[in-house]
Amino acid sequence: MNVVPDVSSQRQTDEPVNSLAAYTTLRLGGRPGRLTVTAETDEAVATVRNAAAEGRPVLILAGGSNVVIGDAGFPGEVLLLRTRGIEVVRAHGESVVVRVAAGEVWDDFVAYAVANGWSGIEFLSGIPGSAGATPIQNVGAYGSEVAHTIVAVHAYDRQSDTVRAMSPAECAFAYRSSVFKHSDRYLVLHVDFQLTVSAESAPIRYAELARSLGTEAGDRVPLSLARDTVGKLRAGKGMVLDAEDPDTWSVGSFFTNPVVPAAVRESLGLDHAPYWPGEGGTVKIPAAWLIENAGFPKGYAGAGVSISTKHTLALTNRGSGTTSALLDLARTIRDGVRDRFGIELHPEPVLINCAL
Ligand SMILES: Cc1cc2nc3c(=O)[nH]c(=O)nc-3n(C[C@H](O)[C@H](O)[C@H](O)COP(=O)(O)OP(=O)(O)OC[C@H]3O[C@@H](n4cnc5c(N)ncnc54)[C@H](O)[C@@H]3O)c2cc1C
Repeated sequence: MNVVPDVSSQRQTDEPVNSLAAYTTLRLGGRPGRLTVTAETDEAVATVRNAAAEGRPVLILAGGSNVVIGDAGFPGEVLLLRTRGIEVVRAHGESVVVRVAAGEVWDDFVAYAVANGWSGIEFLSGIPGSAGATPIQNVGAYGSEVAHTIVAVHAYDRQSDTVRAMSPAECAFAYRSSVFKHSDRYLVLHVDFQLTVSAESAPIRYAELARSLGTEAGDRVPLSLARDTVGKLRAGKGMVLDAEDPDTWSVGSFFTNPVVPAAVRESLGLDHAPYWPGEGGTVKIPAAWLIENAGFPKGYAGAGVSISTKHTLALTNRGSGTTSALLDLARTIRDGVRDRFGIELHPEPVLINCAL
């Protein structure tokens, strides 16, 4: 199950919360200065606005599945976003525009879209976290990314103190990146997705998925088959949250896949490395391949932390880890890959009050 821990009613508390570990999928992170939980969009805006006016830092946290929070925690206010709601705002012919509240559980929305016969996000099944966080790093998997379907992001802009609808161009979506990532300017409130009314998936773009389905790239399959197959592939790699399985106590991929000019790949003696062709003469090299071939196999361990036994790209807390141990492991891997291949790996999650 992919769960954004449920908070059924709005709660604002000055009660001390000892640790943010309960709110992150890594189960790591120290104490917050203060924790505010809200299920109300207006209250979320007011919290951020007041903090901005008073010069207090705010950390927006939803599913906690893409953050590494330092052992010392976060000294400011942590806003735990639990707003809910899915609403069709436009339906025209074969297209629907669906507005989703930021705190809605992403995978619940994907399941809802599939059940309604709306195609476009089925390959993004099983990704933990909230709908509102998907634009932050342009969430993607299996040849699909949310930039393919997002038509507007409704956000509170701290700079202008207004709520506005941002176009995809303003969002500046790129590979695991957008204008929102590493910025505290915006609080995403709702996201509009344009989906296609169809019982069939979008065309398959990912070879591994096509192989599992016994089809060719470019083919379409029934929506529920696409969702189930992606779910199984992800579960086999520990990429679906499972409370019983420490291989899933991660942030998913810890490093992004490096994008380098094709000539660099050859000059570094990486001719035998797998790659995906990119734009403008670049290639994307799988970070997992680099890590394994630099001498870090699945299960490679640090103090209470390790590379997942199911996926080389996931760094996991085995239950007794700390953020500091996790970052030590990440540094060892990053430096090992740099020494072996001359390529610098960069972290995919957002690092809060800690550094690599
Ligand atoms: C097992 C596992 C598998 C994963 N697989 C994938 C995958 O296949 N593809 C992929 O792209 N990612 C994947 N991830 C990463 C993660 O699930 C996504 O990035 C997800 O979108 C994060 O959502 P969240 O609600 O947990 O965000 P959080 O971790 O709570 O926040 C992440 C960042 O976004 C900011 N943020 C969150 N919500 C808002 C908001 N409403 N407004 C402004 N800022 C906000 C936070 O401040 C923080 O900087 C995986 C993670 C895990 C644990």
